[in-house]
Amino acid sequence: HDAKEQGVDIRRYVPFIQMKAKERLKLENDLRRALEREEFFLLYQPQVQLATKELVGMEALLRWQHPKRGLVSPAEFIPIAEECGLIVPIGDWVLRTACRQNKEWQLAGYRPICVSVNLSMRQFLQPNLAGKIGGFLKRIGLDPRYVDLEITESMTMDKEKAFEQLTRLKELGVYISIDDFGTGYSSLHYLKNMPIDRLKIDRSFVAEVMEDSNNAAIVSTITSMAHHLKLKVTAEGVENEEQLQFLRQQRCHEAQGYFFSKPIRAQEFERLFLKPTIFGMPS
Ligand code: C2E
Ligand code: MG
Ligand code: MG
Ligand code: MG
Repeated sequence: HDAKEQGVDIRRYVPFIQMKAKERLKLENDLRRALEREEFFLLYQPQVQLATKELVGMEALLRWQHPKRGLVSPAEFIPIAEECGLIVPIGDWVLRTACRQNKEWQLAGYRPICVSVNLSMRQFLQPNLAGKIGGFLKRIGLDPRYVDLEITESMTMDKEKAFEQLTRLKELGVYISIDDFGTGYSSLHYLKNMPIDRLKIDRSFVAEVMEDSNNAAIVSTITSMAHHLKLKVTAEGVENEEQLQFLRQQRCHEAQGYFFSKPIRAQEFERLFLKPTIFGMPS
């Protein structure tokens, strides 16, 4: 069967497909030069411990300041970087920059917190990932326990490979989180067996937790399961007080979201260290 037979004339779409391909290629070429042109920067979003209201961590989030397009969203360029392999050098830059920033704050005398860095599939599958990260940390002088690597459920699809990688990373001493938990493939079997430390509940569940009783059930079940499995649990995307109260009732450990702060520049983030507890928290 060709497309015509099924009532679709593919020729109508050719110019559109070509344009998309051209556009993508352009973006890919720009991406290739972005590192050397220093067009990337990191924003940091605070992570708050709900029991004490203290700042306990931050997630590093990548931004690309394109000279013509302006700010390009990671949702747009990370998949391209992943496909063409550029994610590896870009990811190395993110890791080094986030860890160096964290070390700088420790040297400045601030209470140590953990920095979370997102890993992509290709980065995670690098044969000597643990050795490489170990090298970065040694040179920077940052204790591995202040680094958290966020992976997604889909990266554990190849169970043996994932187990091996995670075991090496745990030996190094870094923290491991499962990001966007609940949206991907997950089996209770892997949760039981993989050497991980934390589940981050996807923000799609948190967003409607007060309106949708199914979401409430999911958030409460993930939190309770995490407690039983002795995993830490963090809620993403907390935007209001009602969601926060719900999470505290569930004894969720930590939270992150616009209610506390949007992702912000390092300079602005630094001010958060001076506050005994994070604003927006009811006493
Ligand atoms: P993620 O790791 O799940 O990060 C959380 C995303 O939710 C961030 O979007 C953050 O800005 C947003 N967010 C945080 N709190 C709230 C909230 O209360 N409400 C709403 N609506 N959104 C909130 P961002 O920065 O656009 O990043 C999107 C995704 O891009 C990230 O999702 C992550 O998967 C990926 N990403 C970002 N930086 C990196 C990186 O350095 N490396 C890799 N591999 N992926 C990255
Ligand atoms: Mg993340
Ligand atoms: Mg996430
Ligand atoms: Mg997410």
